[in-house]
Amino acid sequence: MGISKVGIVGAGQMGNGIAHVFALAGYDVLLNDISADALEKGIATITRNLDRQVSREKITEAEKDATLARIKTTETLADLGPTDLIIEAATEREDVKNAIFESLLPHLGPDTILTSNTSSISITRLASRTDRPEKFMGFHFMNPVPVMQLVELIRGIATDEATYKTLLEVVDTLRKTAASAEDFPAFIVNRILMPMINEAVYTLYEGVGSVKSIDESMKLGANHPMGPLELADFIGLDTCLAIMNVLHDGLADTKYRPCPLLTKYVEAGWLGRKTQRGFYDYRGEVPVPTR
Ligand code: NAD
Repeated sequence: MGISKVGIVGAGQMGNGIAHVFALAGYDVLLNDISADALEKGIATITRNLDRQVSREKITEAEKDATLARIKTTETLADLGPTDLIIEAATEREDVKNAIFESLLPHLGPDTILTSNTSSISITRLASRTDRPEKFMGFHFMNPVPVMQLVELIRGIATDEATYKTLLEVVDTLRKTAASAEDFPAFIVNRILMPMINEAVYTLYEGVGSVKSIDESMKLGANHPMGPLELADFIGLDTCLAIMNVLHDGLADTKYRPCPLLTKYVEAGWLGRKTQRGFYDYRGEVPVPTR
């Protein structure tokens, strides 16, 4: 089935990045959020990121204008009815995602493919709450979406081959690379990445190292482009905690126990870059470690 109109739910860090790459690839995009402010900020971020691509001569000014013209926004979920593909990229909470799919279903045509950008929640379980588990998949983009090459494709137990093949083709048109992952908690990238970030927070919690020494050690000692705490701030500490909880609950193994210090930062509302404070304070000219 041809995909030309794409509905994206959630205009946060991931939703606006997904809207950017689809519109740039020629799809008509309808971006939805419950918050008008998030939609406004989303479009501002897309514009800024497109400007950067123009200044690096990756795209032309005309391509930027055409991309922006292909993105429309709406606060009304029902407006996403006449689309071929829905990508849900709202807050990482199962109740939020279930409520979104439930509200969307009465407005969709029978062939619309439903996907979630969830980092960790069971695709099979999300799909089972809809009227089309065979047309439901995990469509997991990496942050920042315009830059990162990988997309994880996760089939639920009921996902049919046609849906999988359609999404493989869509990934090709975005000039990204798909990796297929089975539907187990946190899939591949986060199954490996999050326990490492959580261990970095334990290393800080137990006083083995400071924020600076932990990040420097992993950058210079393991050749990682970003330190694990810097990366956690970039991803969002609420998202990191939510993923650890899914691993802990879903695999029932104490090795996935979220670090109490990670919980404390989230309770403080220090969620990383998006709230200007996390393991670093971003309110000044340069990030300053908070511990
Ligand atoms: P975010 O907090 O930046 O954005 C979430 C957006 O969802 C917000 O703008 C919020 O207003 C909106 N929202 C909440 N409830 C909604 C509803 N009912 N209807 C419409 N919009 C709603 O979060 P994010 O980092 O963009 O994460 C979004 C999803 O992407 C999560 O499932 C997350 O696990 C996944 N993800 C995140 C990353 C990452 O690095 N941050 C990477 C891959 C996948």
